[in-house]
Amino acid sequence: MITLRQRLTEGIIQVYYGKGKGKTTASLGLAFRATGHGFKVHMIQFMKGEVSYGEIKASKNYPNLTITQFGRPEIISEPEKVDIEEAKKALELAKKTIESDEYDILILDEVGIAIDMGLINVKDVIELLKKKPPQMEIVLTGRYMHPKLLEMADLVTEMRMIKHPFVTQGMQARKGVDF
Ligand code: ATP
Ligand code: MG
Repeated sequence: MITLRQRLTEGIIQVYYGKGKGKTTASLGLAFRATGHGFKVHMIQFMKGEVSYGEIKASKNYPNLTITQFGRPEIISEPEKVDIEEAKKALELAKKTIESDEYDILILDEVGIAIDMGLINVKDVIELLKKKPPQMEIVLTGRYMHPKLLEMADLVTEMRMIKHPFVTQGMQARKGVDF
């Protein structure tokens, strides 16, 4: 079913952060809901160069949902030049996405971590957010979120870890649930 593109009447800045599970999947839930109404969503993922994620595969079935990944598949302990370059490219694409006005929702997945690791500067993200068109929704996720971004956001939800089987049971990441 093809739904005509809609425009949001008022777009805000949302943040999902914290140590509990559910930040990326909350933003994907929002994306899923929005595409159902014909809104166009661009999720830009920082520090995630891994194509086996279910959302990457599923997005192929949703023409209004584009997911673009930056980074390398490995977990970063010490940031390398390539990590900084990839994060800068992600930020550049976010800027282009905002300027093009082709999307209604822009999700910057794990942007909070990219800032925390020093791959990108919080000032550049603030400048980007200032360019948000009134009809665009911007969602930021990440385990850590800079206080200035929490202050700028209109909606902030903290995912608080009460229990997580990776920690309490030594459970491994499961396909379809964690990736
Ligand atoms: P999800 O993608 O499932 O919504 P998330 O975005 O909240 O999770 P991230 O901080 O991006 O979580 O971490 C990615 C992975 O780490 C996910 O597979 C998630 O299940 C796992 N994870 C989340 N919180 C914890 C935690 N407190 N301890 C260990 N692993 C966690
Ligand atoms: Mg996440």
